[in-house]
Amino acid sequence: MRTLNWMVSATLLLSLSAVAQQPADSQTTSQPATTMSAPAATPDQTTAQPATTSQVPSPAPAANAQPAPPQAAPQPTTMDQVVDRFVMREKGLIKMLQTRTPVIETYLQNLTLDPALGPIPQNDKYFLGRMDLSTTIDRKDYIKDDQSMEKHLLGGFSKLFKVQYQPLGFSWMIFADRNDFDRQHYDFRYVRREFLGDVRTLVFDVTPKPKSGQGRFLGRVWVEDQDYNIVRLNGTYAPRPRNAYFFHMDSWRLNLIPGYWVPAFIYSEEGDFSAGVKNQMAFKAQTRIWGYDLKKDGASDELTNIRVDSVQDDSPTAQDASPLAAEREWQQQAEDNVVERLQRAGLLAPEGDLDKILQTVVNNIEVTNNIDLPRPVRTRVLLTSPLETFSVGNTIVISRGLIDTLPDESSLAMALTHELAHIVLGHNLGSKYAFNDRMLFSDESTYENLGFKHIPEEEAAADKKAIDMLKNSPYAQKLDGAGLFLKMLNTRAGSLGALLTAHLGNSMNEGATVTRMSGLMTSAPQIDWNKLDQIAALPMGGRVKLNPWDDKVELVKSQPVAITSARDKMPFEVTPFFPRLTRQGTTDTTGASGSAATSTPTPTTAANTKTN
Ligand SMILES: [Zn+2]
Repeated sequence: MRTLNWMVSATLLLSLSAVAQQPADSQTTSQPATTMSAPAATPDQTTAQPATTSQVPSPAPAANAQPAPPQAAPQPTTMDQVVDRFVMREKGLIKMLQTRTPVIETYLQNLTLDPALGPIPQNDKYFLGRMDLSTTIDRKDYIKDDQSMEKHLLGGFSKLFKVQYQPLGFSWMIFADRNDFDRQHYDFRYVRREFLGDVRTLVFDVTPKPKSGQGRFLGRVWVEDQDYNIVRLNGTYAPRPRNAYFFHMDSWRLNLIPGYWVPAFIYSEEGDFSAGVKNQMAFKAQTRIWGYDLKKDGASDELTNIRVDSVQDDSPTAQDASPLAAEREWQQQAEDNVVERLQRAGLLAPEGDLDKILQTVVNNIEVTNNIDLPRPVRTRVLLTSPLETFSVGNTIVISRGLIDTLPDESSLAMALTHELAHIVLGHNLGSKYAFNDRMLFSDESTYENLGFKHIPEEEAAADKKAIDMLKNSPYAQKLDGAGLFLKMLNTRAGSLGALLTAHLGNSMNEGATVTRMSGLMTSAPQIDWNKLDQIAALPMGGRVKLNPWDDKVELVKSQPVAITSARDKMPFEVTPFFPRLTRQGTTDTTGASGSAATSTPTPTTAANTKTN
């Protein structure tokens, strides 16, 4: 098969690509790219695993293999040759991703028109799943929906009785056309050259040939001009089958491994709020894909993923642990188990620079309140959008979506201090996870197997303690920002039920009322939409940049954009993606922008910083 030959890796190319992090042995093989990644590609393992598959680690020498970059080819000289090249590269990408099961998240807001603010969220929906890209695109969801999803209606939602979104539909535009993206089924017309970020692209309009079948891609593709990979797709699918819609999508890819651009963001939007238009539907949705480098559930080389940094016994005594020490050891074991398991399920970012910023904020609170815990408090970032925090042992976990929407450092401190208060008050949850059998569940059933919800009495006690601690902290004079954030959340709580549904910890609301740290709301100023410098909460996706290949997170360094009207504020709203594209190995400045005017929080450090 032509595509296979083309996929054979060329060692020549490797010296040209920046692949410092690639294991040396994976660079020298001349196997088709798909056989290079973990032994998960065998046919029996690509079929769906039963939900209760246990994962027994067995030693496997296979490194965390990166796919080999595609073979070098002569530069095309005509536009027809360019088309042939990107059609071939698309097939190469589909092939490379066959062994991958990334996490896919869609957060959708149904819209209604507010005369002053424009379209605002009326209600919302949240989908989270694992995609299997082996032969067809299939997915398993982390969140079980009570209504059964009709998965055969790809790319749309059925109109039979009511509008029903198909989670799978939002993932459809990771490829233009999985099976038939070629000259037999499509016409390609060159439009122009265009820069997307640092990357020069060639733009082509793509139209399905007459009678080539339903649900064909109709739109535009951007193709980078070095290897001719598609880096962006924008359009819809046509013609549509009866009783189903295809919505419009804008799909972006990032160059995270040599030679490939992997699907990372898809923005979807429908609806028209001009005078006289009757909307059948109006929504906007962000789809994010990550966890490409995660092991397939039940894959045999789990050992490479298990962290062993807590096994060293550095206690000074050679005695058995005292009862209290044993209790703490036990908590630590549970904490390590949970952190490791969440990371393996693609829900937790690996430890990184963002954690240092979060830890500085926690440290500021600890130092000014003379808190001296037997073990240092750690922080980790949950990769999902719903606004939530929880703690297990001494680890505080905060979601990407919450960090995204918090307007300033004092509100970040507010979110973290609530969990710190649980730790200080000894509200330890999760010690049952020190039993390792409790970690043996499938990734998709994580939410059914792990949970860190406190009883209402502990929630109230943590809020009270947290407010006391904040009032003693460097954030004491800046708590207006935190209160304003909660007030804004309170005005939106009734329409953002999905965003506010915590999946591992306690939700910040009860119905349409925000309960978390609600004491801070009373002293906060009134929300004034027309006061343009009052930013109570940010749109989704403006702060945390997630690397879809290795799940690392960092803060976005996007330039603040001036807010010119109340409609620019868009608190908690989804916005289109516009990542700054760069080539792998060059200065990495990608990140989905779309955020309103704010500056990146650089935590203030309390005078006498504690060194842990
Ligand atoms: Zn709590």
